[in-house]
Amino acid sequence: MYQANRTRYDEMVYNRVGNSGLKLSAIGLGLWNNFGSVDPLERQRAIIHQAFDLGITYFDLANNYGPVPGSAEANFGRILASDLRPYRDELVIASKAGYLMWPGPYGNWGSRKSLIASADQSLRRTGLDYFDIFYSHRADPETDPEETATALDQLVRSGKTLYVGLSNYSGEQVRAMSAIFKDLHTPFIIDQPRYNLLNRQIETDVLPVLTDERKAAVSFSSLCQGLLTDKYLHGIPANSRAEKGTIPFLHPAQVEQTLNTVKALNAVAADRGQSLAQMALAWNLRQPAIASVLIGASRPEQVVNNVQALQHLNFTSTELRRIDDILAA
Ligand code: NDP
Repeated sequence: MYQANRTRYDEMVYNRVGNSGLKLSAIGLGLWNNFGSVDPLERQRAIIHQAFDLGITYFDLANNYGPVPGSAEANFGRILASDLRPYRDELVIASKAGYLMWPGPYGNWGSRKSLIASADQSLRRTGLDYFDIFYSHRADPETDPEETATALDQLVRSGKTLYVGLSNYSGEQVRAMSAIFKDLHTPFIIDQPRYNLLNRQIETDVLPVLTDERKAAVSFSSLCQGLLTDKYLHGIPANSRAEKGTIPFLHPAQVEQTLNTVKALNAVAADRGQSLAQMALAWNLRQPAIASVLIGASRPEQVVNNVQALQHLNFTSTELRRIDDILAA
């Protein structure tokens, strides 16, 4: 019988999400990889226990996470039912819809038909009564933003989610959706963009909009899928994501192309007394508009290492300049 660590709230940092009443753990656990039907359930359980025992309260799902699609939600639901049920009110559980989930014209994108059906499926798979946050996973170029926004609003009104979020929207799209949500009084509080040392586009696009609108971000691929750790410094290890070669956005060629940059960043991290992963997470969290950084993990030890980032969050201007120079080279 799982008993959560009694000291779990002692070291974690909790940041307010924009001007909402909700706070998120500064580090959240993402279940895109490593929680599918192909992954041992006992390891999944150990990673989730480790995360919660260290004060991580934010768990990030989507309809299609697996493989097979849907299995991450089902597995999380199993672990919730057996171990975490007494702690439900200590957890922020999020899911999303917007990428291909089932065949035909309704299992994808952002129509009312698709979003409402997908949220219902996700609730069934996880066994939850409601999500804490439900996201539109990407903007749908063929659906009027008002339709997507009113579908998310309906999920709130019907008790299926407490808050709503957007993911992979441009700054302009976030601003337009935010205006609709304001009219509807929908609790839209959060955006989920890609952000890390090697992908800084949101600094001039999404982040200024979120600051204006008094919303917050939770960043995904904060470790660039493992490139921003010490994992690939000496080649591509067996069973790593790059070695598997089946996961989008991470290929062996990228490891080679970024190796010099990653080695130089690793030296800055070492001078700060941190691992590269810890520095990468702290660097994301230096942005006032970033409330939380998502991490993926294939082992509990990675969660432990990453949470230690919180012990050294501040950067000197010299360190920031050194990082900027490395990234500009
Ligand atoms: P990260 O950038 O966090 O990379 C995770 C991987 O990095 C791990 O699986 C592991 O790789 C490696 N890693 C993590 N910590 C360490 C460590 N301390 N030392 C060495 N290696 C480490 O991952 P993701 O891209 O998966 O993003 C995290 C989450 O963000 C997802 O699970 C999902 O919830 C969300 N996300 C959302 C998207 C969206 O469109 N909204 C898109 C992508 C992600 P290995 O497995 O090789 O051990």
